[in-house]
Amino acid sequence: MKITIFGTGYVGLVTGACFAEAGNDVLCVDIDEDRIAQLNDGDVPIYEPGLEDMLACNMDEGRLRFTTDAAEGVAHGQFQFIAVGTPPDEDGSADLQHVLAVARTIGEHMDDYRVVVNKSTVPVGTADRVHAAVLEALEAQGLDVDFDVVSNPEFLKEGDAIDDFMKPDRIIVGAERPGAVELMRDLYAPFNRNHERLIFMDVRSAELTKYASNAMLATKISFMNELSNLAERLGADIEEVRRGMGSDPRIGYHFIYPGCGYGGSCFPKDVQALARTAREAHYEPELLDAVEAVNHRQKRHLVRRIRHHFDDNLEGLTFALWGLAFKPNTDDMREAPSRVIMEALWDAGARVQAYDPEAQDEAARLYPDESALELCGSPYDALEGADALIICTEWQVFRSPDFERVQRLLREPLIFDGRNLYDPEKMLAAGFVYYGIGRGESV
Ligand code: NAD
Repeated sequence: MKITIFGTGYVGLVTGACFAEAGNDVLCVDIDEDRIAQLNDGDVPIYEPGLEDMLACNMDEGRLRFTTDAAEGVAHGQFQFIAVGTPPDEDGSADLQHVLAVARTIGEHMDDYRVVVNKSTVPVGTADRVHAAVLEALEAQGLDVDFDVVSNPEFLKEGDAIDDFMKPDRIIVGAERPGAVELMRDLYAPFNRNHERLIFMDVRSAELTKYASNAMLATKISFMNELSNLAERLGADIEEVRRGMGSDPRIGYHFIYPGCGYGGSCFPKDVQALARTAREAHYEPELLDAVEAVNHRQKRHLVRRIRHHFDDNLEGLTFALWGLAFKPNTDDMREAPSRVIMEALWDAGARVQAYDPEAQDEAARLYPDESALELCGSPYDALEGADALIICTEWQVFRSPDFERVQRLLREPLIFDGRNLYDPEKMLAAGFVYYGIGRGESV
């Protein structure tokens, strides 16, 4: 099948690579000329495990191409995927300018039937706006061409994106007309082989399903963070509580890890956008507001801890920081807790020596002039002469370090662990002062 994908970010690139891998003829379009030039040279602008090989293989086989030419894109695919960014607007609502720009482009160049598939995360009602934008562009040229607009939200997780796309838990499709339903069924047949993963529904429900899922996951995290703060005040250990809670199959172990807050390009903006949608529908989203507020507070929790430990004077101190990405196996630092923590430390006059296996280029791009940030070649280099270690991301490589070496390199044997990677009793026995999340005194 011929497929065009607008947007070559995390979602567009993975979608393009995986559809090509299934034998389709895929053309990816982006307005970012540098990005397209880089991709055509075989360079992958993001880090996602397995993506580089999959892109290279499918480009070699001629099933995957990249262009900035939107007209070529519209001419190419019967399926026109919209996978562009929907960043938060100032009021928290999703900014649809890129989605609607693509819709207009499709309408301007379309001369035959197309299925316009919206993969970006968009508020309920966006399919209607996409439909109107395509129609308006067609009518401006006096054209009468049939098309469908389908909602197909994406559920991939950065870090596991290829696996999530190739073996999805579910494929949500919101479509109104039977013809579009059948085309989507055929398109996804290779990813739907062993058991039924396709769930068809009306367009509005599909749009809401994506926000509902992300808001639920964010709620689980904020709930555990709320409980971890309570555990600190009550002398309980949240990790024990987590084990006890998760054993109930109605609760389960997934996504109930306390930490230093959720980040990334999805949860923060999607919770805010859903709250905004609720307000527009004259409904007060009390739970969603609380999820957001708890997360905001949690991202500053380690900073409060650190300040308290150092009697509120961080001037001239140096902190080693392990993990810049908002989660492991990605280079994405959008809304990452590490950024809130580093920025607070710099404001207080401290320096940061950071290490991340994949996100250092991104950190250098985000903070080009920050003299109080040093990006180090290894986790141990980051420790050298530092007053304490702060852990922000649970990369595997941080789970079992050489603690004797850690102790030798640090000026003080002091660890602030935002991901509860270590056992507090063992750390104490090894001579560390160790602060986790929800496992000790509150501040
Ligand atoms: P991204 O910011 O990484 O990439 C977006 C790309 O779209 C950029 O390369 C940009 O240049 C391009 N673009 C913007 N306007 C364009 C236009 N008019 N024509 C062609 N290209 C254009 O975004 P992302 O992380 O891939 O997310 C895309 C969408 O998918 C968002 O709505 C996001 O919420 C959703 N989503 C993201 C994830 C994730 O893990 N990143 C997961 C599920 C859903």
